[in-house]
Amino acid sequence: MNSDSSKKSPWAPPSSANGYKAVPVPLGDRLPPPLREAQKLPKKQRALEILRRLKLMYPEAPCSLDYESPVQLMVATILAAQCTDARVNLVTPALFERFPDVGAIAHSNISELEDLIRSTGFYRNKAKNIQAACQRLIAEFDGEMPSTIAELTTLPGVARKTANVVLAHIFDVHEGVTVDTHVKRISGLLGVTKQTDPVRIEQDLMKLLPRPDWENWSIRLVYHGRAICTARSPDCMRCDLLDICPGAIRLRKEAAKVAKAKANQSAKAKKEEAR
Ligand code: SF4
Repeated sequence: MNSDSSKKSPWAPPSSANGYKAVPVPLGDRLPPPLREAQKLPKKQRALEILRRLKLMYPEAPCSLDYESPVQLMVATILAAQCTDARVNLVTPALFERFPDVGAIAHSNISELEDLIRSTGFYRNKAKNIQAACQRLIAEFDGEMPSTIAELTTLPGVARKTANVVLAHIFDVHEGVTVDTHVKRISGLLGVTKQTDPVRIEQDLMKLLPRPDWENWSIRLVYHGRAICTARSPDCMRCDLLDICPGAIRLRKEAAKVAKAKANQSAKAKKEEAR
């Protein structure tokens, strides 16, 4: 049985998600306005300008998880908690071949399910939630994926973040902003939020961005976090947000401090050697 071909949803299988790699398109001379102007923009205008540029830099924005049905996206998103999308995409082909739809997952052997998803971490809990979510989909929703955040978050293992991903990519419904580790970190660097709690960050972003663009912001910051603004070493000099990003200034100051401390240390070591 494949009960995911929802008559209610406008969902169609993604054409370019599988294997999609984010490669930013350099903006070149399409890059207004000059540095000080951009820094002085009010927060909302700055957020809109950042969004505009992100859309130019990453014109395509498919979900980076591989899936072929709404329930597969839900499962992949649950697996992506505390795990990379790349790792999830390595695990799901075998998983979805063995258990392709909501019925198969609901009636799966839990040990077999656990084995198939083991490398994504927390596999016992994830397997229990995935199976229970599919059982509830059958019992309460006729095997179809519900299209509201209130209904989705009644499914075991489906919190606000997973629900936002499913709603945006399956139903084009925007109930919130998905805040993952990249969105949290880069939104802070870009100075559009001072919060550190994902729920509060989401509230800030919802106030600044137009509703249809909530997922556009999230998905493009995820791409940006992988391609340019990595956690380990943001490549600010290659970033088309450099002039509008207060975080770059902070990072530059921090890098200068580290370089100065290193120089002092080596000068001190040379002095001691000379004695
Ligand atoms: S300028 Fe640097 S810190 Fe700011 S978004 Fe770009 S890479 Fe990240």
